Amino acid sequence: MPPANRHEPKRAKSSTSDYSVTEFLREFPDDAACLEHLWRSRYSPDGEHAECPKCERERVFKRYATAQGRQSWTCTGCGHHVHPTAGTIFHKSSTSLRLWFHAVYLMTSTRCGISAKQLERELGVHYKTAWRMFNRIRNELMADDDKPLSGDVEVDETGVHGRPRGPKMTKKEAAAWRERQVSVLGMVERGGRVKLRVIESRRGEPLSGPVRANVDPDSILITDDWMAYKPLAQEFAGHRIINHSGGFYVDGDIHTNTIEGFFGNTKPGVRGVYRHVSVKWLQSYLDEYAWRYNERHRDGRSMFHSLLDRAAQ
Ligand SMILES: [Zn+2]
Repeated sequence: MPPANRHEPKRAKSSTSDYSVTEFLREFPDDAACLEHLWRSRYSPDGEHAECPKCERERVFKRYATAQGRQSWTCTGCGHHVHPTAGTIFHKSSTSLRLWFHAVYLMTSTRCGISAKQLERELGVHYKTAWRMFNRIRNELMADDDKPLSGDVEVDETGVHGRPRGPKMTKKEAAAWRERQVSVLGMVERGGRVKLRVIESRRGEPLSGPVRANVDPDSILITDDWMAYKPLAQEFAGHRIINHSGGFYVDGDIHTNTIEGFFGNTKPGVRGVYRHVSVKWLQSYLDEYAWRYNERHRDGRSMFHSLLDRAAQ
């Protein structure tokens, strides 16, 4: 076997990352490379020609060095400036583009996300800055779309709280306590996308409302036998129920194994988050988990580039 070329490192097959840090550092060595990327992907595929909104036609654009280090390209026909960061989360940020790109990279290079504390260490920014960057990336780039789920849709809910504290409760009290806790509602298309919602209660409207809002009425709902799902039956094309309380978990294709498998993989992470952040922020973390899952069907494009594309929209 020939010796490995250390200038062209090969990724181990077992690696979960589809874009290595070496590749990132090579593609985006500095602020200028990041700005150039935005300019080309948003306005000018060849880096020189772009549609000028003032001239209303294609023009040659040049980047002039200015004393203020202005981040814009100028139309050679009319002098109009185009700012490649305008309308993106990077615009007018006091944090450099390079750090933003690095934060996007770090968020997409680990399987279960990265904490603001780790970002603070890796990028050498203040904790508050790191936290704000993550928050914007989650809320604006990983936010859920409005497209309802369709086909066979498994729905289930799960608690994110720990055990109740204080004096021992009766079974009935414990059940009532559980229902008062914040839960996560998960809805997943078989072979497709997932949507997650923080719900205030496992009963009535707080549970059924998000199902109505996020699942197409032509879908077949698949749930366990929790009574709060029953009223939904007549609003969807079908409702299949697996009788969990009777000890049944799979009956042909009636099961909720997809959503339960998803919960099993993400719950340790979500629980950890829940202990450290308020309910107010929980939804944005859920969106991050859902985004990761929904990104698994990318055609060869790395998760990093996919998120960067969204930032450049
Ligand atoms: Zn012009």
